Amino acid sequence: MALSEFNLIEHYFSRLGCQREDTVLAVGDDCALLKPPPGKLLAVSVDTLVAGVHFFADTDPENLGHKSLAVNLSDLAAMGAEPAWATLALTLPQSDPDWLSAFSRGFSALAIEHNVQLVGGDTTQGPLSVTVQVQGFVQPDRYLSRAAARPGDLIYATGSLGDAGLALAGLRGQASAVGYLDKLQSRLERPEPRIAAGQAFAGIAGCGIDISDGLLADLGHICAASGAAARVELDRIPLSAAVRAYIAETGDWQTVVSSGDDYELCVTVPELLKTRFEEAVRSLDLAVSLIGRIEPGAGVCCVDGHGNPVDFTAKGYDHFQS
Ligand code: ADP
Ligand code: MG
Repeated sequence: MALSEFNLIEHYFSRLGCQREDTVLAVGDDCALLKPPPGKLLAVSVDTLVAGVHFFADTDPENLGHKSLAVNLSDLAAMGAEPAWATLALTLPQSDPDWLSAFSRGFSALAIEHNVQLVGGDTTQGPLSVTVQVQGFVQPDRYLSRAAARPGDLIYATGSLGDAGLALAGLRGQASAVGYLDKLQSRLERPEPRIAAGQAFAGIAGCGIDISDGLLADLGHICAASGAAARVELDRIPLSAAVRAYIAETGDWQTVVSSGDDYELCVTVPELLKTRFEEAVRSLDLAVSLIGRIEPGAGVCCVDGHGNPVDFTAKGYDHFQS
């Protein structure tokens, strides 16, 4: 039986995630009241996922619950922030208990993993859409931004790139990609926000960004904000075995450099801090690869194994230009 709006909120969302001591009031009043630690800055970010645009309407709701929080936590990771709270604006075509219970289960498991409490939101009826806002903390002198890259800095990327993009190509029926779907679908549907990495990098790396729109586009944002260029060596881009096999078969690097949804981090590190950075990396259970360098100029340039520039037509996803 369909639940009313208020029963639905009470049942699925009133006690979701961790119960934090710095939450004074959570779900149930007109506002949540929160107590950030003295001396820290509040990091705030919001992202919307719309059915038919960001996910297929029949996506497993548990994965959608996970992903809607994960993409937001990924923005906190890209600042080197420590996550604390989330709010959730949910627009649902109908109140379906099975869907809601799977969605809240996926959201909750990731919230608990990262010490996040859901403290409020909004619930409306309409075409399926999920908006999550997150709040976290950074130290005023230790956060990652987009404007701190300088010529000579080293560029690193976490994990592996292109997995989610190849999975999406497979789901869309691209023949050369379908065979890799098995191995890669979870990278598209259940991205892991690189929270521990972001915190370990803060105070050492200058810039940080999460790769949500593709390496070229996102590294391009760092270059634009910093007034510098980036040179990326394609051979150094970290690849999963599946993407490596796909490239060997098709030669298609475009998917790797311009597809989003991997939610890996890309950071720039002054060369003087290389040893400290690589020490910080050893504390993580995550591969981190040196992929290039910041140079004077503008824009992102990719080079092959012989140092020759490789041109890519598509840079990344843009809602209003594709
Ligand atoms: P208001 O009319 O004051 O905006 P609502 O009726 O929208 O209040 O919501 C009642 C309470 O439930 C509020 O505390 C709100 O933050 C919370 N809430 C509503 N929807 C959600 C949701 N999807 N997830 C978490 N909290 C929610
Ligand atoms: Mg409301």
